Amino acid sequence: MKVTILGNNSALPAFGRHPSCQIVSVYGEDLMLDCGEGTQMQMHRYGLRWRNLGYIFISHLHGDHYFGLPGLINSMNLLSRTAPLHVFGPPALEGILQQILDVADTVLCFPYEFHPLPEGSALLVDTPSFSVTCFPVEHRISCHGFVVERKTRGRKILPDRCGDYGVPSTFFDRLKQGEDYVTPEGMVVKNEWVTEAGPSPRRYAYCADTLFTESFLPYVTGVDTLYHECTYLDADAEKAAARFHTTARQAAQLARMANAKQLLLGHFSSKYRDLDPFRAEAAEVFPGAQLAVEGVAYEI
Ligand SMILES: [Zn+2]
Repeated sequence: MKVTILGNNSALPAFGRHPSCQIVSVYGEDLMLDCGEGTQMQMHRYGLRWRNLGYIFISHLHGDHYFGLPGLINSMNLLSRTAPLHVFGPPALEGILQQILDVADTVLCFPYEFHPLPEGSALLVDTPSFSVTCFPVEHRISCHGFVVERKTRGRKILPDRCGDYGVPSTFFDRLKQGEDYVTPEGMVVKNEWVTEAGPSPRRYAYCADTLFTESFLPYVTGVDTLYHECTYLDADAEKAAARFHTTARQAAQLARMANAKQLLLGHFSSKYRDLDPFRAEAAEVFPGAQLAVEGVAYEI
């Protein structure tokens, strides 16, 4: 499970940085978190295709988080996408997107479903491979964070070993559940001889745009990787609070309180060219804090 950063800046594109967008990959499926302007170009640039992209989640309706969405949907249509697309976002987004389609007399050639986010927290998607929940954060307008959880899929089959012991592929589903195999001659093939431990559950929390607050801690406690915005450095803490944003030090405090294993920092203000002070300030509170760098995929 990994997250690829396509945009790490706030408000404006600046210093080669783009507005918010990330892609979380789980077992070969891609989920997009926010879709700022330039997302399509960033996908091209970093070789990400939308073939595996079935879900898009928009945290709130400030333009730097969704202005890339109409263009992306339009391109999917022009290129004759056939796979379904599910978009989750604030209720007003449905009409905005529909109007853009209607005025151009565009009828989408693929199944498209809009799912309005509820006010509070909710389970949005639940598949055998992963789940996505939303939770409210505190911003100037209604805003949600998201938790993506990778589920376990049983034990991992070792095909070569199965061949050695003569375990047929028709038994693989039962092997994944941990069963031993008994050959027609009555010999017991121990499960651990032909499988190994499967991937463990993993959780990634995307905390979107928010004030520094403990209000959503219950939703993000114990996550493997926590992404938190840090629009400003601590010297600008007053400005951060007035604009419902967070500083690098505060983001690190939140990650520490949440007992997160890894912290990614993003949504940097356009007033900063050099980002290393963000990393240094956060690392004083949360050692190992990393900047979310565009084009980089981070293991979760
Ligand atoms: Zn923003």
